[in-house]
Amino acid sequence: MIPAPRELSRCNICNRPVLWTVTRAGNRMAVDAKPHDDGNQACYRISPRTWQSRSLDAADALPLAAWEHRYKPHVATCPGPPKPKPPEPLPPNVVPIRRTR
Ligand SMILES: [Zn+2]
Repeated sequence: MIPAPRELSRCNICNRPVLWTVTRAGNRMAVDAKPHDDGNQACYRISPRTWQSRSLDAADALPLAAWEHRYKPHVATCPGPPKPKPPEPLPPNVVPIRRTR
């Protein structure tokens, strides 16, 4: 199952799209917006606006069900804040003005 664009939010650190889910313990957890074969969270929609996630790493975790897809927790893939772009190089016919002090 793939979340609809309207179900996605943006990570407030890296600005990538994330899907907010609710764990079985009732906590909120953001996962990456697209399923991933290596993901350790089984996610599925439980109501029109709510996705549930459960860990597949737990010792007693049941295998992935037909209605679930694997997702990665976003904290595992978040690259952090976007890096500022380096300044564009000057055209070859422009001499940089340097500070003298
Ligand atoms: Zn992020």
